[in-house]
Amino acid sequence: MAVIAGNWKMHLGPHETRGFFKDFDTSVLETGHELILFPSTASLGAAFLARGEAVKGIGLGVQNIHWEDAGAFTGETSAPIAANAGAEFALIGHSERRHVFGETDEETTRKVAAARRHGLVPVLCVGETLAERRAGRVDEVILRQLDAALGDLDVEDKRFLVAYEPVWAIGTGETATPDDASAAHATLRARLSDAVGAERASRVPILYGGSVKPENAEELMAAENVDGVLVGGASLDPVSFAAIVRAAGKPR
Ligand code: PEP
Repeated sequence: MAVIAGNWKMHLGPHETRGFFKDFDTSVLETGHELILFPSTASLGAAFLARGEAVKGIGLGVQNIHWEDAGAFTGETSAPIAANAGAEFALIGHSERRHVFGETDEETTRKVAAARRHGLVPVLCVGETLAERRAGRVDEVILRQLDAALGDLDVEDKRFLVAYEPVWAIGTGETATPDDASAAHATLRARLSDAVGAERASRVPILYGGSVKPENAEELMAAENVDGVLVGGASLDPVSFAAIVRAAGKPR
């Protein structure tokens, strides 16, 4: 089974969210793959209602949380508020959070802990910039980002997902080759295995993200150690998102 997640970033308000669910071909749920959508926080309630019974198989998450449970943090959303609004997952450390908003590894550590405290499944995003790739620093960067989030994973058997998203491939039309994705995923899997044992590490889905589209989804998802995809732009259109789900083929 693959995990196919859509990050809507700062797109699709409540009205458009209702339209997405109305137009989404729910027969793709019969493929048996796991689907997750990350609407903007203001659209989460609309997504929760629009999803209804018919498409209950689609998980919902938020794109970011604060590490504190409550307080004077204007504009932020805490993990308990997100969970109360219907979120089951939280993206943490997305490259836009890290590179546009200056989020640090220390903050991702605290956010992963907050998500886990409140029953949200963290989807940790890691990835190198183009300069870091050119300098041969891919493994160093992604392992540093993963290590920051591992925290108490070794003592608690809670669900956890990782998304490898090379920064240079996000929203640029550039995609990592299946071999590049596979190599980075193998590096991450090996570290997870050291941290929590091979059996548990094999149960942590590692998704690839970065300009995934219906045309390239199949070969990326067929790559070794790629357990699914995190899709930005192409997840905004219900037809292309459904096409990506179909590209995953039959669950392995
Ligand atoms: C993302 O936002 O996580 C992403 C991968 O975006 P895109 O698919 O548009 O590159």
